[in-house]
Amino acid sequence: MSDSGEITREIRINPIVPTESVLIATARGMRPKEAEERLERDTRAVVDTCPFCRGNEDRTPPSIKSYPDSGDWDIRIVPNLYPVLGDDRAQPNIAFGLQQVIDGYGRHEVVIDNPNHGIALHEMAPRHLADLFTVYQQRMAELYESDPRLRYVLVFKNFGAAAGASIPHTHSQIIATPVVPENVQNEVHHSREYQSKFNQCVFCSLIDEALTYEATIYDRESGQIRRKVNVGQYVVERGEHFVAIKPFASRFEWEIHILPLKHQADFLKASRTEMDDFARVLRRTMARLDKVVGGVQYNFFLHSVPHGLEFDNCQASYHWHLEICPRTSIPTGFELGSGLFVSTVSPELAAELLRNADIDGD
Ligand SMILES: [Zn+2]
Ligand SMILES: [Zn+2]
Ligand SMILES: [Zn+2]
Repeated sequence: MSDSGEITREIRINPIVPTESVLIATARGMRPKEAEERLERDTRAVVDTCPFCRGNEDRTPPSIKSYPDSGDWDIRIVPNLYPVLGDDRAQPNIAFGLQQVIDGYGRHEVVIDNPNHGIALHEMAPRHLADLFTVYQQRMAELYESDPRLRYVLVFKNFGAAAGASIPHTHSQIIATPVVPENVQNEVHHSREYQSKFNQCVFCSLIDEALTYEATIYDRESGQIRRKVNVGQYVVERGEHFVAIKPFASRFEWEIHILPLKHQADFLKASRTEMDDFARVLRRTMARLDKVVGGVQYNFFLHSVPHGLEFDNCQASYHWHLEICPRTSIPTGFELGSGLFVSTVSPELAAELLRNADIDGD
C-alpha cells in the first residue's frame, strides 16, 4: 500500500549515525519530475577537444595505470591536474592555539572510467562496471600499501554539473588522505557502539529489517494507523550478493545505498564473483533512477573500513557500502544552517516508484 496521498511531516533519525537527521516534509502536488523534464546531458561518444577521450592522452599527465595495459585502454588512472591534496609538501602539522592545521598531504587521482565520453553508468556493460570496481580495489590497495601515512582512500564520482563535475567526460576520483573523513569516522564510531551494545552489525540489522520486518504502528489515543512498514518496502533492487536500499532517513530524496548481503567490512575483500553481482545491481539501480528522476546527476562514494591498527577491531561492526546521492535540489540556508536535511519525497514513495520503474534487460 502506498502513502503517496499523505502529507508527512516528521524528523527521522539516521539509525547508523544518530547525530544526523532528516526532515521528511511531503505535500500534495510535490511529485517527482515528469519524464519530459529530463535533464539534457552530453551523450556524444567522442569529443575532439576532450582531454579524457581516446587519442588525447597527451592532454593529461601520464597515466598511472591503464586497463588493459596494452592496446586501447578501457579504464585509465591519471593524476588530478588540480589536486586538492598533494604529496609534494613535507611541512609539519601546525598547531596555533585552537587553530589546528593538518598538512594537506595526500593523493588525488582521476579515473577515466570509460572511453565513451557521454555514457551513463547504466549504459555501461555489466562486465565493464565490474572491471571498474575491481580497478578501484586494486588502486586502493596500492595506495594503502604505498604510504602508512595515508589513512583513508575515498573513491567517489560526480556526474553532471549539479553534482560538481567540471569535465563532462564520465570519470571518478580517488583521494587518499592522512585523516579519516568525518562521515566515515562517524559511521565507524556509531556502528562500533551498536556492536558493543547489541553484539551485531547495525548495517546487517538494517538489511534484515528491510527484508523481513513488518509492522503497523497505531496512534496510542485514537487507535488509528500511524504508519505501516511492509516487508521489502525499502528495497529497490536485489541480487545474489547485494541489495540496494532506500534508507528510511536519507538526506537526499532519491538516495540509495548498495550493501553486500553477507557481512563484509572491507570493500577490498569482495571477490570477483561478488563484483559481478554488484555491477548488475548497480547498473539496474542506476537505470531505475534514470527512469524515475530523468537524466539523473549524482554523487556516489564508497565507504569501507579504514585501514590502520585502531580499525582492526571494526571488522565485525563495520559494513562497506556504496552511497548514491542524486542531486535534484540545492541545499537551502535552512539545511546548511541547521544541519537538518529536508526531503520532500517520502522514502517509502521513492522506493516504491524506483522498484516499479520499468527497466529492460538485466
Ligand atoms: Zn571525452
Ligand atoms: Zn554487517
Ligand atoms: Zn556511508
